[in-house]
Amino acid sequence: MIYDLLIKGGRIYDGSGLPSYLGDVAVKDGKIVETGRISGSAKRTIKADGLAVSPGFIDFHTHLDAQLLWDPLATSSCYHGVTTVIPGNCGLSLAPCKEPDRDTILRSFERVEAISLPALKAGVKWGWTSFPQYLATLRGRLGVNVAALMGHCALRQFVMGDASLQRAATPAEIHQMKEVLKAGVRAGAIGFSTNQNPVHMYADGTPIQSRFATDEEIIELACALGEINQGVVQISRGSLGVSVPMRESVQLFDEISSRSGRPVIWQSITHRWDKPNEWRELLDLAKESIDRGVQSYPLCNARLFNNRLTMKNAQVFDDLPTWKAILFLPLEARIAALKDPATRRKMRYEAVEEKKPSRFSRRWDLVYMIKAATPANKHLEKKSVAEIAQIRGQDVIDAFLDLSLEEGLDTEFQTSSTNGDEQAVAEIIRSPFVLVGQSDAGAHLIYDAGFGYATRLLGYWIREKNIMSLEEGVRKLTFMVASIFGLRDRGLIRPGMAADLVLFDPATVRECEPEMVQDLPGNEKRLIQKAVGIEATIVNGEVLVQQGDHTGALPGAVLGNGNGAALPAAA
Ligand SMILES: [Zn+2]
Repeated sequence: MIYDLLIKGGRIYDGSGLPSYLGDVAVKDGKIVETGRISGSAKRTIKADGLAVSPGFIDFHTHLDAQLLWDPLATSSCYHGVTTVIPGNCGLSLAPCKEPDRDTILRSFERVEAISLPALKAGVKWGWTSFPQYLATLRGRLGVNVAALMGHCALRQFVMGDASLQRAATPAEIHQMKEVLKAGVRAGAIGFSTNQNPVHMYADGTPIQSRFATDEEIIELACALGEINQGVVQISRGSLGVSVPMRESVQLFDEISSRSGRPVIWQSITHRWDKPNEWRELLDLAKESIDRGVQSYPLCNARLFNNRLTMKNAQVFDDLPTWKAILFLPLEARIAALKDPATRRKMRYEAVEEKKPSRFSRRWDLVYMIKAATPANKHLEKKSVAEIAQIRGQDVIDAFLDLSLEEGLDTEFQTSSTNGDEQAVAEIIRSPFVLVGQSDAGAHLIYDAGFGYATRLLGYWIREKNIMSLEEGVRKLTFMVASIFGLRDRGLIRPGMAADLVLFDPATVRECEPEMVQDLPGNEKRLIQKAVGIEATIVNGEVLVQQGDHTGALPGAVLGNGNGAALPAAA
């Protein structure tokens, strides 16, 4: 046999977690056909001496639903060895969607995922109503593979219209939603996602559709998947333990999975500065479900969740009522409010003194000025607000607000409320039932870029901190994800499996600092992120990215139908 592609002399990390070994991998017709020592000839041979060869990474938490329509490579994910992306998380998807609801559905992404509305309007060329039609729009035009979840918001809007933004569903409406969901999954959706995060809303403050759902509605929808024995449930409820006690949330995840018989992926276990031991309680609670044989898997992030902010545009203060109200004011009124001493007193109370849990850490020593808007303040860049306050002889709130006001609210800051305690994060990542990756690729475009969760795990956590073996890290990024999400022919290097592969250098692999670019439809801005040490990203047997450059190939497929097989191309 003449192979299409032969990868010679690499060290194979096959995804199973077994010890790696030196060997070759041969590919024909998009599939792995042989592994071991291979002497046959091939149309193309890649020498992989000194490199690791692993299954492609599966980014299971993305919001690339819209971006995939104008960017088939899913940049920057493809630069980090990601060969399959899963959009449709957190209750949000672009299908199903009736024509009169298009604007409402686009806007559901605007604040929750912080994707610029002008970019969405310019980039999304509507042409579908049903979920299969959306998948058909993607099919044949993809660089990476896509396995998509149906979002609860779109599903509710589709069945209930604008009542989905006002109330719980009736039994008849739930029945209809179940039918639409089943049809979508039979035709290629890999499950459904829902979201009860109390800070997830439209730009005008209206809660998103899925927040009006009762627990019973969510369980019923999960049971629809159970009826066809296909698909997963992804659920996000925001900071667990803020609005509902943690135990209740974890019990709900357990109930969804045990009643439907389908895997549940829930968000998330992170270290938080305001509740430094919560992660351990959550791990213990999660383990109770796992021990009883329930498929309920928490996810975690391999990195700090950074938030960039200016007082023109910030979401990190959403749990602080005065701050939130001010950030919704028109600019002039906002400036006036920020100067008002009485308002400042309230802001100081909420952001310094109050003890109520909040996404914002109240750690002003962890809020850094990253970009001054005026040359006079350049010397303060990279300093924390606490340091700046000391330099200016003010308290932190006055320093932060006065500096912002002096610069027309354009001063850029960055902070992170979660995952600051490395020992805690290492323990979370190592847990055998925790999924690693919360990239949110395609979302929070100007606040943060998390494309590099896999390169972060391989470079920082495994090479530098040695928290687990490389074999185990690769397993977490590949076979574990493919198995839970039902992508049966992905995530392992074995004959017969799809040839989604990544070649990387374990000695150098890492993620780069995000960079701001202006490449979105509508000339809008976003952060991108490059990688070091990723030699090649191979999708269905074709090299998609080589040393950071797109080869021109578009080998991506729509995965789904419950068996992980690529659906046939649309006629
Ligand atoms: Zn999300």
